[in-house]
Amino acid sequence: MTWTAEAVATRARNLRSPKFGVIAEVRKLIQGVEGVVDMGYGEPNFNTPEHIREAAKRAMDEGHTHYVLPTEGLEPLRHAISRKLQAENGIVVDPATQILVTAGVQEAINVALLALVNPGDEVIMPDPYYYVDPLGVMLAGGTPVYTHLREENDFRLDVDDVKSKITANTKAIIYISPNCPTGSVFPREDLQTLAELCAERRIFILTDEIYEKLIYDGTEHCSIASLPAAQDITISMFGFSKAYAMTGWRVGFLVASAELVRTMLEVHTQLVLCTNSIAQHAALAALEGPQDCVEEMRRDYETRRNTLVEGLNRLGFKCKRPPGSFYVYSNVTGFGMPASQLAKILAKDARVVGYPGSAFTNGDDGENYLRFAYTKDIDSVRLALERMEKVVETLPKGGEA
Ligand code: PLP
Repeated sequence: MTWTAEAVATRARNLRSPKFGVIAEVRKLIQGVEGVVDMGYGEPNFNTPEHIREAAKRAMDEGHTHYVLPTEGLEPLRHAISRKLQAENGIVVDPATQILVTAGVQEAINVALLALVNPGDEVIMPDPYYYVDPLGVMLAGGTPVYTHLREENDFRLDVDDVKSKITANTKAIIYISPNCPTGSVFPREDLQTLAELCAERRIFILTDEIYEKLIYDGTEHCSIASLPAAQDITISMFGFSKAYAMTGWRVGFLVASAELVRTMLEVHTQLVLCTNSIAQHAALAALEGPQDCVEEMRRDYETRRNTLVEGLNRLGFKCKRPPGSFYVYSNVTGFGMPASQLAKILAKDARVVGYPGSAFTNGDDGENYLRFAYTKDIDSVRLALERMEKVVETLPKGGEA
């Protein structure tokens, strides 16, 4: 290694997660290969709906190409967000002081953690996790502490376990519901218990609700900030990337008390100054325009989920129908080999990509799971199942439940 590579700051070096290695090994096998069904990334296959794209073009033509002032976000967008929060999430906020428009939920997570976490602080999070959460805690100088999501508990939060992880250094808990990577949804009664626990122990709650619209079978999405116990201690983060297929636009938002938003605004201004102006106009059109596009995409995801779960179980994977997001976290112990080995076989021989659970966990059971993102159309999901079937038939333990 050159001295310049060695001399970089530890905080930056820590961002090179060893977990990425597992995914990189799988992806290397499909490099340059034609016709791969890539169910690795959480990237919707849909294009951003037309009326949103048109609003962005109009914004450009009308000259909205300047810095957005005030830097917390376009005023009409913050008003539209506050109406959405009240109508859909039961969260009542003052749009003037309690909303910050960010460069995606990704920025919101890091802004919130940088605003709250001191070196030595601990942040509790469910494991398996979205890789950004532990890295964000470390970037802020804190230590991630994990609470395991167990398959026997349908990957829901175990609030008793959270309680057992609290120490004098616990600053916050961050969780994702609907969940990535397991597809679980945390029920209202668990969140009520969590809210009371955190209020009593003076612990902040950070919620990533980016998958709130991707929810199936009539399952309820509960925003913890709507529960009185959590109101003043919660930073709720929402996005456009998944619900409106807007991953490339880089826009999302967070909601919290005016006091917390003031501090986070300082971090946000330091990092990006303001969120992209055109993307904010597009986000406004997304919220104010017709919502049937969201429902159409949701129904499409639901059909794919049903097909995928049924097919995987037939092939010897074990999984229930996950009630949220667009991931299936399937148990592969029936194949008698670690998930990373199976993932490589599937990538090479079936040209199908799923990610091993070891990329998402600090625990020792990551090699028991393979995550598939059903972000490809239904024909591709069927094709992936056909191809995987041919490959697992040839495996020594293939097909065993
Ligand atoms: N949070 C979770 C749980 C995600 O899965 C992702 C992207 O995959 C993000 C946040 C990033 O969201 P955004 O595109 O709004 O930055």
